[in-house]
Amino acid sequence: MKVKLHGTRGAYPTSSANNQTYGGNTSCIEVINGEERIIVDAGTGILGIDFDTFYDADRIDILLTHLHMDHIQGLAFCKPLFNANKEVHIWGPGGSPESLQARLNRFLSPPLFPISLRDIPSKLIIQELPNTTFTIGNFAITAEYISHPGPTVGFRIQCGSKTVTYMPDHEPVIGKAHLFPEDEWVSGFKLAHRSDLLIHDSQYSKEEYMNKVGWGHGSLEIAAEFCSRAEAKHLLLFHHDPAHSDDERTRMFEDFMKRANYNFPIELAVQGHEIEV
Ligand SMILES: [Zn+2]
Ligand SMILES: [Zn+2]
Repeated sequence: MKVKLHGTRGAYPTSSANNQTYGGNTSCIEVINGEERIIVDAGTGILGIDFDTFYDADRIDILLTHLHMDHIQGLAFCKPLFNANKEVHIWGPGGSPESLQARLNRFLSPPLFPISLRDIPSKLIIQELPNTTFTIGNFAITAEYISHPGPTVGFRIQCGSKTVTYMPDHEPVIGKAHLFPEDEWVSGFKLAHRSDLLIHDSQYSKEEYMNKVGWGHGSLEIAAEFCSRAEAKHLLLFHHDPAHSDDERTRMFEDFMKRANYNFPIELAVQGHEIEV
């Protein structure tokens, strides 16, 4: 299995020259197993996927963790949605009195967008996810609600003996410096448990986090503590704040690594990178 990072940024896309080392596009990854591919989140990173070359199949699956703009903005211009020969399956969180379709339609309809979701030419199949496990081809996927404002799921994606967990927006404990001592009280624990690769929110420094408690994100420190507790084998720090220049982000990471003492690799996510799992 291979993971391609098409967008690693949180909050909003950035074209600043100071943000290009880690990439300017918002959250989107692709999980690839031979000819099989699934897309997770549809931030502006989805616009970098070469649909003409790699997606000759009639069916495309897009999994959404939640509906914040940085995770759905690219849907509006995602080529397969405008191709009448394509069947596009969009999977996303339930947990609201309004259907997933109605919530997506708030963005994909006037006045924010020229046409309504119902007028999009592809065959759209929109499926709400409770806490559940389902399969797409050879991928076994578990969705589970995690701690973030509004209904939000994380994904555990298994293929053969390998597992990737994706939680781009996650505040594992709210306002505390450390995780709860009991595993069952740690949001997302089961999703990440013994994953080969954990892609996790790390938007803030430890100090910044204390002014942003409850905003739905965590720090590099808490991401590493979470990875360690879940015994995941490799941590990819994701959802970079566009308000940080790349130099600031690198310094923040280096400072953290000087103090960190973990027995698994920790890296900053870089747009365009492919990771073999
Ligand atoms: Zn986000
Ligand atoms: Zn969010």
